[in-house]
Amino acid sequence: MRKNLIRLFVLIFMLAFLIDCALISFFYREVHIQKMPLQVDYEKFSKMDISGEVLKSLKKFCDKNDIDFSTYLSIYMAEHDYSVQRIDGLLREYNYKSIPNAQLKHLYYMIFADIECFPIRLDKKEDINRYSYVDSFLAERTYGGDRKHMGIDIMDDNNESGYFKIVSMTDGIVENIGWLELGGYRVGIRSISGAYFYYAHLSEYAADLKEGDNVQAGQLLGYMGSTGYGEEGTDDQFDVHLHIGICIIEDGEEKWVNPFSILKMVDSK
Ligand SMILES: [Zn+2]
Repeated sequence: MRKNLIRLFVLIFMLAFLIDCALISFFYREVHIQKMPLQVDYEKFSKMDISGEVLKSLKKFCDKNDIDFSTYLSIYMAEHDYSVQRIDGLLREYNYKSIPNAQLKHLYYMIFADIECFPIRLDKKEDINRYSYVDSFLAERTYGGDRKHMGIDIMDDNNESGYFKIVSMTDGIVENIGWLELGGYRVGIRSISGAYFYYAHLSEYAADLKEGDNVQAGQLLGYMGSTGYGEEGTDDQFDVHLHIGICIIEDGEEKWVNPFSILKMVDSK
């Protein structure tokens, strides 16, 4: 009799547990689906307000669990209102059946799918202590009229033109190469997945590089310099640095995103 009672209790307990699990997963999914916004908030999206460390962790988690990174990131960022500085709690596998905002997922895909390396090749061990950058996205600039800084400047702390090798962060195609008043000698690479990577102020280009060339991640594009802010050949108007910009075209409009955390993600420092 007593044994039967115990069995009954165990059975009831197990049933209750199973029902509980089913309910939790059902409600979690319902809440989750409702939370996904229909519209992409471009202003928040373009700030890429997520730390490089978090990006690294998410990438590692996705690779390990065979999860599509852009899917995961689109859900994660939307759920955190596009702002994540540290990971609270455990990363978990989302239920993908009905979720991510397809447009947001596509935006992250265009940007991240081909990124493989930092845009500066470090040939010597000590080079790692020779460059620096801060988050200056949207900082005020005045040359050529008041405007916002649409990228990040990676400085050569020794201010030596032609020292650092600039390499492509992605596979892609040389879409633009040549002089721009603001960008000096610049190279624009269209990545395979659609984002535009803009490398500006070079001292010189890699030999034979020309429009339409296929490039691979890590391939030499040119050398860090200080060209720009004038007619072709103008140099030394500012310190030696690489300006890196990342842009996508959405609804026929250029949308620049903040490369800071993306650089941190691939920076070996
Ligand atoms: Zn810049």
